[in-house]
Amino acid sequence: TFKAVVIEKGDGGQSVALKDFDESGLMDGDVTVRVTHSTLNYKDGLALTGKAPVVRRWPMIPGIDFAGVVEASSHPDWKPGDSVVLNGWGTGETHLGAYAEKARVKGDWLVALPANLTPEQAMAVGTAGYTAMLALLALERHGLSPAAGPALVTGAAGGVGSVAVALLARAGWHVIASTGRADEEAEYLRGLGAAEIIDRRELGAPGKPLGKERWAATIDAVGSTTLANALAMTRYGGAVAACGLAGGMDLPASVAPFILRGVALFGIDSVMAPLPLRREAWSRIARDLDPAALSVMTTTVPLDQVIDRGPEILAGRTRGRVVVTIA
Ligand code: NAP
Repeated sequence: TFKAVVIEKGDGGQSVALKDFDESGLMDGDVTVRVTHSTLNYKDGLALTGKAPVVRRWPMIPGIDFAGVVEASSHPDWKPGDSVVLNGWGTGETHLGAYAEKARVKGDWLVALPANLTPEQAMAVGTAGYTAMLALLALERHGLSPAAGPALVTGAAGGVGSVAVALLARAGWHVIASTGRADEEAEYLRGLGAAEIIDRRELGAPGKPLGKERWAATIDAVGSTTLANALAMTRYGGAVAACGLAGGMDLPASVAPFILRGVALFGIDSVMAPLPLRREAWSRIARDLDPAALSVMTTTVPLDQVIDRGPEILAGRTRGRVVVTIA
């Protein structure tokens, strides 16, 4: 047996507890990993609390990402002792996940731990940070660079947002950070490289189909009215990368920014992203994310405390990234 956070479903709803889990209960896979670190993402909060139907199988070990060391493998790419990282592919949703001392997964899902990142740093980045990089890559592929104008980051003090601010600032962008916590987190966000802080209420109320052109690019973790307003205030030819729904799943927008300003809206998915894109994102993270900024945005909790953190992240009270230490 090994220690795992286990979600079970009963008549009274779901229960979550740290338990001894029998290895024979692991699901099929060709690589067994000794998990050393995981993280807390928004989606993990949804799984731990049962607030949205993220979990599709019971019992479930939640946790959508991990870093660890291969213990056994029949996959040609991996051998015992290899350091690996995993994000998504349904782990913690349909496949037993990361909040456990062991995981059995498909070798095709794994990425090698980038050479200049420790497992702890890789998980400080985690799914949230790797998603922020996927968003930046989409904006760059569109041809955008700091010369095009400022970049907006919404949900800036959260996980995706914090990494997005640091990455954009390091790449030379003038970063406008939108947050609901300016009083407490303005200094933190400036430390990550934000040039301006705006109150998220500016973007939270229904606005005009077209507003003043304020930014050339946006990384949006919030969705809903915030995303609609980000689009409406995008400069001619700019783009928005939409990756989150912390403010809502709806999109009360008009087509005006698309047809009158040639604005593009890119959808960002981290879960099923193909391997070449993952490798590109991780190598860019290893090269471009300032380790000092990463360290400032990271808090660490042991496995037995992650359950209590679920409601916190959903309430928007988590700053930056949370690493879960397992081994
Ligand atoms: P997080 O740390 O909780 O960050 C979300 C941030 O959004 C909060 O810190 C808060 O920032 C802001 N926020 C929260 N509730 C809000 C509300 N009601 N209205 C406006 N802003 C609100 O979560 P995360 O792990 O970074 O994830 C962020 C979002 O990205 C989630 O929706 C998550 O599901 C999504 N995501 C998607 C993918 C993908 O593959 N597409 C991957 C990772 C994450 P402030 O306090 O600064 O305002």
